[in-house]
Amino acid sequence: MSAHLASTLTWPKVKALADGGAVALLPVGSTEAHGPHLPLSVDVVIAEEVCRRTAARLSAKGLASVTFPAVAYGLTDFAGPFAGTVSLTAEVTSGLLEGVLADIARHGFKRVLAVNHHLEPAHFRVVKDAAAKAAKATGAHIAAADHRKPPFGERLGEEFMRGGSHAGNYETSLMLAAAPHLVNEAERAKLPTLAVDLPARIKAGAKNFLEAGGPLAYFGAPAEASVAEGERLFAILVDATLAALEP
Ligand SMILES: [Zn+2]
Repeated sequence: MSAHLASTLTWPKVKALADGGAVALLPVGSTEAHGPHLPLSVDVVIAEEVCRRTAARLSAKGLASVTFPAVAYGLTDFAGPFAGTVSLTAEVTSGLLEGVLADIARHGFKRVLAVNHHLEPAHFRVVKDAAAKAAKATGAHIAAADHRKPPFGERLGEEFMRGGSHAGNYETSLMLAAAPHLVNEAERAKLPTLAVDLPARIKAGAKNFLEAGGPLAYFGAPAEASVAEGERLFAILVDATLAALEP
């Protein structure tokens, strides 16, 4: 098996994998409210699962990979009013991510991917900037996979493209496929569809999910989520991650 978790390896093994051309993967998520039916860890669980499935695909192609421990905190202002949400400033998030990515590369990894699944626009901007800075500082191929971009975004569905994907059908389906024991099915079944155009509300000045019309910190249609949809989505997310390995 050539898909490795850094947390389980000794340093000589990491050195040998880096020198042998292994790809390094860094899951990036957040600690934030995701409706009354999903835990705070959703973005981390999804990012780790995308890394696991990406590592399996790389392995099938004969490429080794090392997945590093996830960055579980980020810039999370929109979920700020909801208990348990922990937000860092853009400056701290940027410094943290740039530091981690550059230091992974410093030990010889020539290809390092940030695999971010916390979709707050300001946070995603920081992840991309941090990857670019780390690449410049080290000369390694360091990139942030971006599944919002064509041709991947459109394939993720209408709810995703409308920006109503926070804890809705999109994220709930991914959780049902990756970690069903973390989905509260009784709560999920009760949730009416909340068809809010989140980007439009943000443009109109909403500063958090409450102001945007999401009093329970979810949008979209969690009740419509399914394992099959989650599996379909993960396949696209893995394709988008692999695409980021190309220079
Ligand atoms: Zn999320």
